[in-house]
Amino acid sequence: MLDGFAHCIMHFDGESPVDFTYLSVNSAFNKLTGLSDVTGRRVSDVIPGLRETNSELFEVYGRVSRTGVPERLEVYIERLAMWLSISVYSTQKDHFIAVFDNITDRKKAEEQVMFLAHHDPLTELPNRLVVRDRVEQAMIYSTREKSKAALLFLDIDNFKIINDTLGHTVGDALLQQVALRLRYCIRTTDTVSRQGGDEFLIVLPGVHDTADITTVVAKVLELLAAPFEIEGHNDLSTTASLGVSVFPDDGKDFDTLLRKADTAMYHAKEGGRNRCSFFDRQMNADADERLALRNELRRAIDREEFVLYYQPQVDLVSGAIIGAEALIRWRHPERGLLAPGHFISIAEESGLIVPIGEWVLHEVCRQAVVWQNGGFPELVVAANLSAVQFKQSELESTIVSALLKSGIDPRLLELELTESILIKDTEQVLSTIRRIKSFGIKLSIDDFGTGYSSLAYLKRFSVDKLKIDQSFIRDLETDPGDAAIVRAVIQMARSLGLRTIAEGVENQRILEHLRVSHCDEAQGYHIARPMCADEFAIFLSSHDVNRHRSES
Ligand code: C2E
Ligand code: MG
Ligand code: MG
Repeated sequence: MLDGFAHCIMHFDGESPVDFTYLSVNSAFNKLTGLSDVTGRRVSDVIPGLRETNSELFEVYGRVSRTGVPERLEVYIERLAMWLSISVYSTQKDHFIAVFDNITDRKKAEEQVMFLAHHDPLTELPNRLVVRDRVEQAMIYSTREKSKAALLFLDIDNFKIINDTLGHTVGDALLQQVALRLRYCIRTTDTVSRQGGDEFLIVLPGVHDTADITTVVAKVLELLAAPFEIEGHNDLSTTASLGVSVFPDDGKDFDTLLRKADTAMYHAKEGGRNRCSFFDRQMNADADERLALRNELRRAIDREEFVLYYQPQVDLVSGAIIGAEALIRWRHPERGLLAPGHFISIAEESGLIVPIGEWVLHEVCRQAVVWQNGGFPELVVAANLSAVQFKQSELESTIVSALLKSGIDPRLLELELTESILIKDTEQVLSTIRRIKSFGIKLSIDDFGTGYSSLAYLKRFSVDKLKIDQSFIRDLETDPGDAAIVRAVIQMARSLGLRTIAEGVENQRILEHLRVSHCDEAQGYHIARPMCADEFAIFLSSHDVNRHRSES
């Protein structure tokens, strides 16, 4: 009877680590597993690595050898790409028979059933069963991380019309493509699921502020607005309305969050569709403001609403003003003068930083030449570059055009990069920076010390200057840790032949401290606040070199 089954008789080796020897196997075993000539060899020798991948198999073999009590288990053997059901019976002490049954097909079918039970067959997105679980996971995670979680309820606008006029096949295809685009909008830790019909849910764990949510919302609205190409209809367009509820503010369980996200979604529909509503009124206002700024930002360039302010940089030995950092401001028609903190991140998210950055470069160069021609002493003018600009292939041509158009001496232009740009260290970044440097432009690292600093890139990118971040300068006099960091950065920079500038110098004591630490330059409110170009010219003419000069 036994010969009808694939089986083997084995002997318990009793050594450590525990192993088993094949005493005899039948032909059905060979046929099933494809293994041959195993008699007399050890299991771990016949299938190397099995002990590590299937330790429970060794445990069961060991237990049956010891106790004589039969057991059965199901295991996946990777080397054989097979699911096996194995029954193990003891024959005499330390000897046992293992009988095998290939259950791979059954397991695959089970997996398929599991998948179908948890996924929407049309879009293959997780279904409502899964999303409930994901929201609960997100709530646990966010509680632990002291962050929030958001539930986005999305409903496609006018889906019924598309379905009714173009047919269900087109409707289904549209849902599939929407699902694809939604997947593209989220991080791997987020979940998109289809609720049913034209409704989708998006779960965002680890949310810190409204901006984390509006970024996803803006991306979703933008991506869905692009036309779809479905079965000959190549300009099918649709929009969506979204409602957002936030854990723990709006609710602490799935059902409450879902209800509130749904309510918020209806507000979005009532508000005119193709938009997003938050359940919470304050959040709604914040999100509205961010989304409104994003739209206004598009127009701000054409309407010439940006201005550059300039903050002087002083040489700590001579006391002379030797440079200026250009800091952008937005003269918003209703909100007044906005600092970059209000809009740079929105500009980066939306890609608008590219045209804005282009304007900045042109304007900085133009202004520098005006000052140069106005008879002021030579000034190096610095512009901030965003990491997003670096991803654009046009950066280099933008710089070249700003140089040519203004006729500025490239030595008088400095670009401030953040460590995050250099960390990428791709060939593209490297070659772009090399070429920028070859024009004679200076490079400095902004907010130095706040990123992942590496000496290797300072060398590789031939940086000229480190801008020590204000967070180390602020408490320089009182915090010995900060003082030690600043000293170390200056020493390191000196030994690499780099200049250092301290940002955020707010009083004379800090200035003196920096001077004795051999910091080269300083910038901060103590010297002057950022000011518009006209004020800056007046400041330059009246600057008393002795005020910031070294006594020694
Ligand atoms: P940043 O490049 O590190 O600029 C220094 C910031 O510190 C400026 O803020 C400046 O006004 C402020 N500051 C200067 N001295 C002091 C001081 O003594 N005390 C204090 N508490 N603050 C001081 P601002 O102008 O608000 O700019 C913020 C950030 O926005 C800049 O940080 C820069 O990262 C970014 N930014 C500014 N203009 C541009 C731009 O044209 N393009 C890009 N991509 N980013 C810009
Ligand atoms: Mg800067
Ligand atoms: Mg800085």
